[in-house]
Amino acid sequence: MDNVLNLLLQLQEIDFQIENIKKRLKELPSQIKEITQKKEELLFSLDKIKTEIKHLEADKRERELEIQDLEDKIKKIEEKLLKVKTNEEYKALLREKAKAEEKIMEIEDEILNLMEQIENLKKKEQEAEVEYKEKASILEKELNEKENELKKLEKDLNDLEEQRKNLIASIDNSHLKRYEMVKEKKGLPVIAVINSDTCSGCFMVIPPRLYNEIVKGKNLTNCPHCGRFLLYIPS
Ligand SMILES: [Zn+2]
Repeated sequence: MDNVLNLLLQLQEIDFQIENIKKRLKELPSQIKEITQKKEELLFSLDKIKTEIKHLEADKRERELEIQDLEDKIKKIEEKLLKVKTNEEYKALLREKAKAEEKIMEIEDEILNLMEQIENLKKKEQEAEVEYKEKASILEKELNEKENELKKLEKDLNDLEEQRKNLIASIDNSHLKRYEMVKEKKGLPVIAVINSDTCSGCFMVIPPRLYNEIVKGKNLTNCPHCGRFLLYIPS
């Protein structure tokens, strides 16, 4: 095989690998982002439950303090009751006491309600924690794999670009220019392997005289339609 063609084939092989790596490198960041988001969402739903529990517990403490205040109030009323002079005053104090006792019962109902809500949420919290532990470790593993892949691909890409630089130094300028031009216009492959008179790059028929020359394999030839280098390999 022609030496230039051989070098161009090596170049094309490197370019195929570079193209594949670049394609993968484009996909990976969004996949990594997606996994990170999933992990954050899991943690967020767990945190949301924890915050809700905290709020309800603060609510409950507030209600308990209200009861404390009302009980103090009742104590004071009872002390006053011992010292009252008039019947009117006595009745008024009793009414006030009854009102405070009623309010305490109301608040106690509210506290029971809050306790029930807290208990339900704590069950949910436990479930969410189990779910988080299970899923987070799977996501963590996936994330690690993707990040390692990213690092490896970046290194591979560097190596390939280095190899490419060394390789093109030994390809003459006119062939290299044509290779780069076809690659830019038509994309890979730049070298079309053929075993009939049809270009495998653009699927157009190669004129008979040109085809004969290619079969003889004397000169490096390009497809007159798409410009790709043509390499004849009989099947
Ligand atoms: Zn062609």
